[in-house]
Amino acid sequence: MAKPTRKRRQPTQKPFIVGVANDLSEYASVRVFAESASDAEDAISEMLHRGELTMLEFERGDDREGPYTCDVREEESDDQVEITIKDGQIIQPKPQAFKLQCPHCEYDGKEPSEHGGTFRLLSDTTIWREIVRVRPAKKGQPRTLIVEGLSDKYDEDPEKNDRLECRACLKEFDLPKTLPVDYI
Ligand SMILES: [Zn+2]
Repeated sequence: MAKPTRKRRQPTQKPFIVGVANDLSEYASVRVFAESASDAEDAISEMLHRGELTMLEFERGDDREGPYTCDVREEESDDQVEITIKDGQIIQPKPQAFKLQCPHCEYDGKEPSEHGGTFRLLSDTTIWREIVRVRPAKKGQPRTLIVEGLSDKYDEDPEKNDRLECRACLKEFDLPKTLPVDYI
C-alpha cells in the first residue's frame, strides 16, 4: 500500500536587504530571501564567514576585519543590490528584457523612420583653431579675434555628452545607463 505523502508546509520567505560593511566605509547591499530579518542576516554572516561572497564589489581594506553584516531590513521597491541569495545560493540575475525606445514618441526602431535610419548616437566633439591675434578696432571695424581657418579635432576625449537621437521625431534622449557602447 502506498504511503500517503505528507505535504510539508513551505515556510514563507520574503526578500530582505542585508547591508555588508567592509573597512568601515565600504558597503554593499545583498538581497536575501528568508523567513525573518535575523535569518536573513545570519545567512549572509555565514556566507561571509565561509568566504562565499568574495565577488561583492567593495574595496578591501588591509587593516580591519571584515566584511561583516551591519544592517538588515525588509526590501523596498527601489532597492539596488549587488547580488541576490536564495536558499544559500547566489541567484544569477536574469537578463532584463531591454527595448531601445524613444521616450518622446515611443518609436522602437523596428521599421526605418521617414527621416532615414532608426536611432543615431550623437556626441559633441571639440574642434580647435589657432588664434592668430586680436586685431584692434580701425576704420569703423570692431576689435576682432583673428582665427586660422583650418580646424582640427581634439583627439583625446573627443566624445562628450553622448545621447541618442530618435530618427522618427528627431528628439534626443539620454543613452540608457544599462547600454554600454562599443565602437566598431
Ligand atoms: Zn521619437
